[in-house]
Amino acid sequence: LLTGSGLRKSFGLTQALEDASLDLYPGEVVAVMGPSGSGKSTLLHCLAGVVRPDAGTIEYDGQDLVAASDTRLSALRRSEFGFLFQFGQLVPELSCLENVALPLRLGGRPRRRAEHAAAEWLDRLDVGELAHKTPGECSGGQGQRVAVARALITRPRVVFADEPTGALDSLNGERVIRMLTEAARESGAAVVVVTHEARVAAYADREVVCRDGRTLDTGGPG
Ligand code: ATP
Ligand code: MG
Repeated sequence: LLTGSGLRKSFGLTQALEDASLDLYPGEVVAVMGPSGSGKSTLLHCLAGVVRPDAGTIEYDGQDLVAASDTRLSALRRSEFGFLFQFGQLVPELSCLENVALPLRLGGRPRRRAEHAAAEWLDRLDVGELAHKTPGECSGGQGQRVAVARALITRPRVVFADEPTGALDSLNGERVIRMLTEAARESGAAVVVVTHEARVAAYADREVVCRDGRTLDTGGPG
């Protein structure tokens, strides 16, 4: 589905990626692990079409993402990719329901239909009662479950998650990763999840380890 190969990326004198590759199959969950500064986030950003690599190839669904125009990349990100980050991703001025409905609204869906779908997703993630609260009124774990609902509501084919449990205690972190992987598997989405935690990687089908901008595929599950 998505293949990045021989990816290289520098920021000034810092070489964030040296030679990184990742091959993602439809519906699979891959954990990207490795020490701080090893290039995990940069790899994720390249694969998601957020950052352009200096060298290497990225192919998504038969399309060359390195050569794709900015317009094409942002259309792909909106319609086929979902995103989940460590924190700070929900719009504080909107209710949880409006936050989850937002990607559909941006895609032109009428408010009532978007909010109806959003309410269903909040229920699925077990946070239906938070619909009319703002993100500031949620706990960290609740907020992340709202963010999972928002990442999945467009039925993306790939979800990119960068340390989605990094700000949570282990109990809440486990709940979020379990709900993310279950909901993604049900809707057939593939997931690339960057994490430091073996407990989180255990939910993946496969692990890829980053070291000094290079990837090592360890194959088996965590
Ligand atoms: P962490 O686990 O701490 O999040 P990481 O593995 O995600 O680390 P990256 O964020 O990919 O690491 O960073 C890899 C290297 O590239 C680091 O040395 C970092 O300082 C550098 N880097 C990343 N993004 C930028 C940027 N936008 N500008 C300058 N340097 C950057
Ligand atoms: Mg990072």
